[in-house]
Amino acid sequence: MLKLFSGLKPYTWSLFWVVLFLFAQSLAELYLPTLMSEVVNNGMMKGDTGYVWRFGSYMLVVALISSLCSVVGSYLSSIIGMSFGRDTRYKVFSRVENYSLNEFDKIGTASLINRTTNDITQVQTLLVIGLRFMVNAPIMCIGGIIMAYSRDSHLTLILVVVLPLMLTFIGGVATFIVPLFKAMQIKLDKVNLVLRENLTGIRVIRAFNRLKKETVRFDQANRDLTDTAIRVNKIMASMQPVMIIFMNFTSIAIIWFGGLRIAQNNMQIGDMMAFIQYAMQIMFSIIMVTIMFVMVPRAQASALRINEVLDMEPTIVDPENTRSSHKQRGYVEFEDVTFFYPGAENPAISHISFQAWPGEVTAIIGGTGSGKSTLINLIPRFYDVTSGSVLVDGVDVREMSQEELRTKMGFVPQTPIIFSGTIADNIRYGKADAADDEVKHAADTAQASEFINAMQDGYQSIIAQGGTNLSGGQKQRLSIARALVRKPGIYILDDSFSALDFKTDARLRAALKNEIVNSTLIIVAQRVSTVMDADQIIVLDEGQIAGIGTHRELLESSQVYYEIVSSQLSQEEIA
Ligand code: ADP
Repeated sequence: MLKLFSGLKPYTWSLFWVVLFLFAQSLAELYLPTLMSEVVNNGMMKGDTGYVWRFGSYMLVVALISSLCSVVGSYLSSIIGMSFGRDTRYKVFSRVENYSLNEFDKIGTASLINRTTNDITQVQTLLVIGLRFMVNAPIMCIGGIIMAYSRDSHLTLILVVVLPLMLTFIGGVATFIVPLFKAMQIKLDKVNLVLRENLTGIRVIRAFNRLKKETVRFDQANRDLTDTAIRVNKIMASMQPVMIIFMNFTSIAIIWFGGLRIAQNNMQIGDMMAFIQYAMQIMFSIIMVTIMFVMVPRAQASALRINEVLDMEPTIVDPENTRSSHKQRGYVEFEDVTFFYPGAENPAISHISFQAWPGEVTAIIGGTGSGKSTLINLIPRFYDVTSGSVLVDGVDVREMSQEELRTKMGFVPQTPIIFSGTIADNIRYGKADAADDEVKHAADTAQASEFINAMQDGYQSIIAQGGTNLSGGQKQRLSIARALVRKPGIYILDDSFSALDFKTDARLRAALKNEIVNSTLIIVAQRVSTVMDADQIIVLDEGQIAGIGTHRELLESSQVYYEIVSSQLSQEEIA
């Protein structure tokens, strides 16, 4: 946690002021009982009204100063806490933005969201409350003991008995409660998990009639959390009366023994009253420390989770000396590439070598899990190869800057991602300064203009969150248009025709062929009809190349390809 708090450096001055104001507040509060004892001893007991008025107004002034310092201190510490939260969120966000897919796989998207929101809030709350307690509690406790001792040293013996008793009780409760708090955190995660799965998977849940089962599952997680929370609160609730009993018995003891000392003329009434107040202040400061003890482990767990995100170095970074590619535009080459996912026993792809040239279409076909997506994810360097190398325009992708590399390509992922905004915004995601004509042209080529024009506001139509008001095929075409508008040297289309009907698929391919004259087009597909006309077809089987060539050549040479083709086309079509 200390490491995380090093992010407070820019607020050193504000922190200084917070400490100063809270310090002043504590001192003022410590001074009040002493003033009161003056009023009682030298004013009221002696019937000196003038004295009472004078010291009474001092008390008022000190109380006002104390309140003012408290308000300013709280205000400043809130500002520091919130700014710290904002900065940490920004740090986590920008770190995550630089993650490669490897790191995403490791922590998981849901957890990353939790860490950026809930965990940072925990630490931020501790900071705001902790700042106040950390300044107030020691001053009130130590100062209180000194002041109480200075009022009457004999009565201090009462505190010597009570305080250890109180500390033992609090310690006992804390050992119960801290593990429960930790368990609550985990149970809250579980509720979040079930809730998220249910919200995103609602269609599947309904289609498979799992609604009742899911309700039970949620109910269990929810109850589990509630039960633990109730147990925590029961313990906390029992703490309050016990503390009050402690305080009241302490007061009784002080009054009892103080009374005896007053009767023996060893003590004055005002001192006894001040003594009671100091005893209360000391006990309150101990309660403050207890609250800190409960909050710290919680925030500590959160701090660990945040640090884990901040400490994880992105595995894919730009080299110190980047190399730019020479003039060639859109040339892709794989040289004996093997790739293992982290922790995987078998390679996802192995010994892959091929070249893809501008002006040509390279298609990749193979069964599910044969490594098609893995292969094309290596071109924009979403992952780094385990051995071998991927060259783009003659330069190893690891030697190029990621920005330069990715500017060269238009990537269409397997599941189209649509951002909130209008249709035009989504297409312009590929090229921010694209003119209206360019946007329209890209949509035309992607066979998207027909459905866009049919929408009420055309290109300005608002897309619902996640693109839910578009069909799968419409989303695919939009995301193809987004790649087209960039006019890159390399197009990578990962199974982007899967939701299109055969007619649209054929029209789109024809349009692409006219559009992409000088660029390399790499398409992953399941359908033979999509890849048949490609200049070269790469057949993948269990991560290895089972054949490279044109449709005709492969029919002769590759058994795997023949099997794929014969499962999809009739004998006449093959012939
Ligand atoms: P395809 O696109 O041909 O269906 P993939 O390239 O997606 O195949 O997957 C190839 C293999 O790699 C599969 O065995 C799959 O289980 C594994 N795989 C894919 N993505 C990951 C990942 N993020 N982490 C670990 N293994 C993965």
